[in-house]
Amino acid sequence: MLRGVLLDLDNTLVDQEAATADALRGWLPAIGVRFSPELLSLWDEIQERHMEAWRARTVTFGEQRRRRLREFLPLIGIGYAEEDLDEIFGGYLAAYESAWRAFPDVDAALAAIAAAGLSVAVLTNGSVEQQHHKLARTGLTGRVGPVFTVEDVGAAKPDPAAFLGACARWGLSPELVLSVGDRHDLDVLAARAAGLRAVHLDRRDEGPHDEPHRIRSLTELPLSSGL
Ligand SMILES: [Mg+2]
Repeated sequence: MLRGVLLDLDNTLVDQEAATADALRGWLPAIGVRFSPELLSLWDEIQERHMEAWRARTVTFGEQRRRRLREFLPLIGIGYAEEDLDEIFGGYLAAYESAWRAFPDVDAALAAIAAAGLSVAVLTNGSVEQQHHKLARTGLTGRVGPVFTVEDVGAAKPDPAAFLGACARWGLSPELVLSVGDRHDLDVLAARAAGLRAVHLDRRDEGPHDEPHRIRSLTELPLSSGL
């Protein structure tokens, strides 16, 4: 029996990869740099590393942004003054936020979850301020139940404490909750380690293909199965 569905946010509800690519396509030419897939990969790699430091609570959210620029700008040949970093990041951020979109299957998935009589919540490794802003901009505020962030539960996925903290605040036992997300390591394996059920949302068919509970769209959620 299932009582609740715990959804990841980035690349599960909101197309973060497309938003990042769109943001760089707008922002890089504005600072005099031509967009390329290689620069997108570089930006992603730098972002992930510094977000990891933020999740480990060794830097503030604002500082991880500045550290990303201190690393990225010299690599693309852009000089900068330290005091201008926040304003420079603001240029990227404006482009990024205006590119946030919910995936087209989200509406139908939320309707199916409600029709099945299940509760819904979000567990995200992002920051509380940015993720609430993201849900508001994509029209999802109030439609996805409680939102649990790293700052709320004091732990980040894949730490099982993140899932246990979310379930405790939600008031549901882990075994009654289905975790759904795009990252097999963070949203599936880590959820199972915490005692939840889990399904991998593999939108791009990237695998692992031996995962028994794998879906390609949120419309395929196994809400009535004995998962
Ligand atoms: Mg995700």
